[in-house]
Amino acid sequence: MSTPATTYDYIVVGAGSAGCAVAAGLIEREAGTVAVIEAGPQDNHPFVKIPMALIWLMGSRRDWQFKSAPMAGLNGRQINIPRGRMVGGSGSINSMVWFRGRASDFDGWNVPGWTWADVAPVFDAVEGRTAPNRLANPHPLTENLHRLFGGNGIAPPSPDYESAGVCHFNLQNGRRWSAADAFLRPAAGPDLTVITGQEVSRLHVQGDRAAGVYLGDTLLTATKGVVLSAGSIGSPDILLRSGIGPSDSVEDQIIDAPEVGQNLHDHPGCGMHFAGVHSGYGLTLRQAAAWAMSPLNYLRGKGPLASPTVEGAAFFNARGDGAEPDVQSHFIPFFMNHAGSRYAPGSGYFADVCVCRPKSRGRLMRRDGQLHIALGLFNDEADLDTLTHGLFRLRHLMADAMGDTAAPEVHPAGKATTFEDMRDHVRDAAGTAYHPVGTLRMGADATAPVTPQLQVRGVDALWAADASIMPAVTSANTNAPSMMIGHRAASFIAA
Ligand SMILES: Cc1cc2nc3c(=O)[nH]c(=O)nc-3n(C[C@H](O)[C@H](O)[C@H](O)COP(=O)(O)OP(=O)(O)OC[C@H]3O[C@@H](n4cnc5c(N)ncnc54)[C@H](O)[C@@H]3O)c2cc1C
Repeated sequence: MSTPATTYDYIVVGAGSAGCAVAAGLIEREAGTVAVIEAGPQDNHPFVKIPMALIWLMGSRRDWQFKSAPMAGLNGRQINIPRGRMVGGSGSINSMVWFRGRASDFDGWNVPGWTWADVAPVFDAVEGRTAPNRLANPHPLTENLHRLFGGNGIAPPSPDYESAGVCHFNLQNGRRWSAADAFLRPAAGPDLTVITGQEVSRLHVQGDRAAGVYLGDTLLTATKGVVLSAGSIGSPDILLRSGIGPSDSVEDQIIDAPEVGQNLHDHPGCGMHFAGVHSGYGLTLRQAAAWAMSPLNYLRGKGPLASPTVEGAAFFNARGDGAEPDVQSHFIPFFMNHAGSRYAPGSGYFADVCVCRPKSRGRLMRRDGQLHIALGLFNDEADLDTLTHGLFRLRHLMADAMGDTAAPEVHPAGKATTFEDMRDHVRDAAGTAYHPVGTLRMGADATAPVTPQLQVRGVDALWAADASIMPAVTSANTNAPSMMIGHRAASFIAA
């Protein structure tokens, strides 16, 4: 890294899905000089581009590798919270599944200026740059999903109605096309500086104004303001470390902001594993030749390396009672070992159930100088019940979808035949879909940490723009909504 200048008009913290869009929007509006500060490295590693290689990025130095606090709802277990740590952020390690969410998700936020009518044109603009499209060569097992719910043609499934099928992805020519590709790199020029490998430790607040950030002891100043785009964990953490938050979670409090770090939530999820000969991608003798050919096939856009692992999805009502979808399933045509070993032999597939609109809430705190991520899964047992019902329905749906190509369920299988057993299994095995949001809720009410124009309440010239500002998680995956938030934020900030 070259030695950075020390003064910019704007400093954007985090080059993730939202931060890349914020920075590009400021540059395109000629708002001034912009420095984007990213804790992780550049995204120029080949694994970032190869869809299947995300399995090797998770757990690497390009993943923050956060861990939750032990959760009562999960029988005291802690779970991994992967977050991308490089240019492109979590959008550089994710599965690239592309969903906007439902119109009612945004209308339900009840925040002036953020209804579906307000955000739909912003999604259009984002999609003009990311060009999400149907996976070119899905595994034949994934194609089976279109049989469900009376058939969905080749349309992607929709969280608005019961549907299943191959998803759309932000891939171009079979390679990841993240917010760094769609927004940040096209904005390159003399006014944009991207500083990698530097972690913002805290804000520099002068009077009631954000005037810069600290990289360790080094101060970078911002004449027009600072934008927090460090994600749902990073952004509230920077505020807490800067003395902005609830009194029980900050040292040297400068602003009492009781809701900073509150309202943390994610889509809880739990999966089913299926295994059998001639089934999905896996390490078997029969597939040895296919694996040997896989680098070549990848260049042709085919085979396991070209698969973003999640290939298909379904939205359905967990209880099957005709009501609207309340769960999402991700379909992965790979054998996945339920004990978690990455290289276990076998052929098969995997599908999960995630609660679309969870009621449980947790909290992110700092205690004794340490980050404490209390995800709060199943604090509201309604989520546990919905997920449990959903797994029973998934069992039937998988049998219907796969027909003659169905492989036997190997986990949880016989361990979960009654509702009570399945519920216990969920507590023992559930995780999340990796969609944490909500820790800097935006709202028009005075206690919301962030205003509808994304200003952090109580500090001038400070904005938050990333998944943390969602009052409630959208009903599907959160990358597209995060880019939409970043793109929109730039227009507010430049104005
Ligand atoms: C493994 C995985 C799979 C996923 N799959 C999908 C999917 O298929 N589809 C989908 O829609 N969503 C998916 N998601 C979720 C989606 O990627 C995220 O919701 C989205 O990227 C969040 O965007 P963001 O801008 O809020 O944060 P991020 O993209 O995480 O960006 C935050 C950035 O800030 C940086 N940062 C943090 N703290 C600091 C600091 N102190 N100083 C400097 N920089 C800092 C980080 O390194 C990171 O680059 C997945 C997520 C993961 C982790």
